[in-house]
Amino acid sequence: MGRVFSQSERLTDAMRSVFVELLVHGPMSRAEVARRLALSPSALTKVTKPFIETGYLREQLTGEGPSTVGRPSQPLQVDASRMSFVGIKLTADELYAVRTDLAATIQEETQRTLIDHDIDNVLGQIAQTVADLTEEDRPLSAVGISLAGTATPSDPVVHTSPFLGWSQLPLARLVEEAVAVPTVLDNDVRALTAVQQWFGEGVGHSSFALITVGAGIGCGMVIGDRLVTGRSGATGLVGHLAIDDRGPMCEQGHRGCARAYASSPAIRRSVATALDRPELTFDDCLAMARDETRDGHPVARRVLDEAGTALGQIVATVANITGPELVILSGEAVHMYEVCADAFQTALARHTHWTSTPVPVVVKPFAFNEWARGAAVTALQHLLLHR
Ligand SMILES: [Zn+2]
Repeated sequence: MGRVFSQSERLTDAMRSVFVELLVHGPMSRAEVARRLALSPSALTKVTKPFIETGYLREQLTGEGPSTVGRPSQPLQVDASRMSFVGIKLTADELYAVRTDLAATIQEETQRTLIDHDIDNVLGQIAQTVADLTEEDRPLSAVGISLAGTATPSDPVVHTSPFLGWSQLPLARLVEEAVAVPTVLDNDVRALTAVQQWFGEGVGHSSFALITVGAGIGCGMVIGDRLVTGRSGATGLVGHLAIDDRGPMCEQGHRGCARAYASSPAIRRSVATALDRPELTFDDCLAMARDETRDGHPVARRVLDEAGTALGQIVATVANITGPELVILSGEAVHMYEVCADAFQTALARHTHWTSTPVPVVVKPFAFNEWARGAAVTALQHLLLHR
């Protein structure tokens, strides 16, 4: 590691801004960087010099053409291979992990079944995973951990984790002691939002929201270029938003909340119970709703329409409150969107405040390793912005 990113030397705000600008927006000329960040050419030279000396930034070769054009025309770019991160997502049963480079490209991934929820056992499995993913000649810059529950990088204690049964657990410190690498902890949906902010659909938007559908309904928000954390990380808790008090019941005893309508287990349960077919999977229910010739279609159709309506109402509510430029819809059950798009769009239009137009919605296909990638990006963001 070069001195630029060593623990002892703090980056200046200008250094952070230049590095992040190039990381997020890709190679660009010195003139363009200076213009975007309102820096003078000499200030930019001063900022980039240490990064170039240590190899974190390089001046891209311009390929063909005269070699005497001079330095100013050579675009600057981040050398993504200069850092490695491990991101780990913990679920109730499994540990998913990836190693990424500085540009959040996944280089290796692995998965383990948790022995149990005993913290010493989980720490042992985390340490083994980190060791397995670390390359011999390239120490990790940071480790990121994400899970469902209230946690933030600045207060790295798991306050409540419904799936793991932990409370007030200083997980980041325990992992850091176990693996001897700086460790950052955050909520899993916020970690996914960080990926979208720097490397996904959120690039170029100063305010956007990410809504995830899957085992629950999640919401991460970037407002004015800041990833919103709130008090103890408790933001975006739309999962139990009231939709219709004549609806199905969630496990917390709410009748007709968002989760009871639009989470994948609730959709599956509603169809399976109505048809008395307990063997049905979530994807069976989607296929039945899509295929008009199969038995049970009207029930599956109704359940998916209600799910789409609930989702549209959630997105409209988030948009009404935060005014995002864009809403990204993702999560492991996001493929349900194509089956309930009409109901979703109708509800979105209906619940959008009458003075606004419905927010643009991007549907982002999801792979499960995105959760662990999110944890890696959380670690990366924390290292670049706060250390
Ligand atoms: Zn509920």
